[in-house]
Amino acid sequence: MISFVGAGPGNVDLITVKGRRLLEEADVVIYAGSLVSKEHLNFCKEGCKLHNSASMTLEEVIEVMKAGEDENLKVVRLHTGDPSIYGAIKEQMDLLDQEEISYEVVPGVSSFTAACSSIKKEFTLPDVSQTVILTRIEGRTPVPEKEDLEKLAAHKASMAIFLSVQDIGRVVEKLARGYQRDDVPVAVVYKATWEDEKIIIGTLCDIEEKVKKEGVNKMAQILVGDFIDGDYSRSKLYDPTFTHEYRRASK
Ligand code: SAH
Repeated sequence: MISFVGAGPGNVDLITVKGRRLLEEADVVIYAGSLVSKEHLNFCKEGCKLHNSASMTLEEVIEVMKAGEDENLKVVRLHTGDPSIYGAIKEQMDLLDQEEISYEVVPGVSSFTAACSSIKKEFTLPDVSQTVILTRIEGRTPVPEKEDLEKLAAHKASMAIFLSVQDIGRVVEKLARGYQRDDVPVAVVYKATWEDEKIIIGTLCDIEEKVKKEGVNKMAQILVGDFIDGDYSRSKLYDPTFTHEYRRASK
């Protein structure tokens, strides 16, 4: 059996109970060594075979899975955060489909929610934004033109920008053009939930300078929007004058 498992953002306890159990029972683990905490591997049983996918091609990963399947072994493919977001999981699943090998996918805590927890904010505030945009700036992987950061920023929704901190200058430029103001709050969270986590708070005006000063150029979330700092309305859900399915309004 092949199980794709989201390892969570870093802290070893932020994997799901199901994911941890699969790791404990695994005969073979293929882990994304550049981002997954090695601490997860301490939960593997003795004799479990470990492969770091950082130095492997897609074909090599599939070979390891196939060999495991042939021997009826339990194989875990450990992805960082949640595998459905920038996980390159689809190309693996497609090749397994071709080979008629079945698999399951176990979700994980993505780094965008982990980063928001680290700064203790809420993405979806009434009268601020009810939408979260997850995106990235183009790098070696292109981004469709209609999803250019400037165009997305024009919606003024809450944003979590992955894979982009190395280009913070260009990110800020596009966001400022989209938002049409440069006092928009920004939080850059480096290695959210790891022991060496760093939080850098600023606005579109000064965040580039602050990030460069801290030397952060990888493994960071760039969170953007007025949800980070500013006014909002209270929720209707807990409003004493508002009745809903589970609670009557008080007089
Ligand atoms: N599937 C992962 C994302 C993989 S892409 C997830 O759901 O989080 C890798 C990018 O994710 C990094 O460039 C960075 O932008 C972000 N990232 C991963 N772990 C992070 C962490 N602990 N703190 C901040 N950003 C992180």
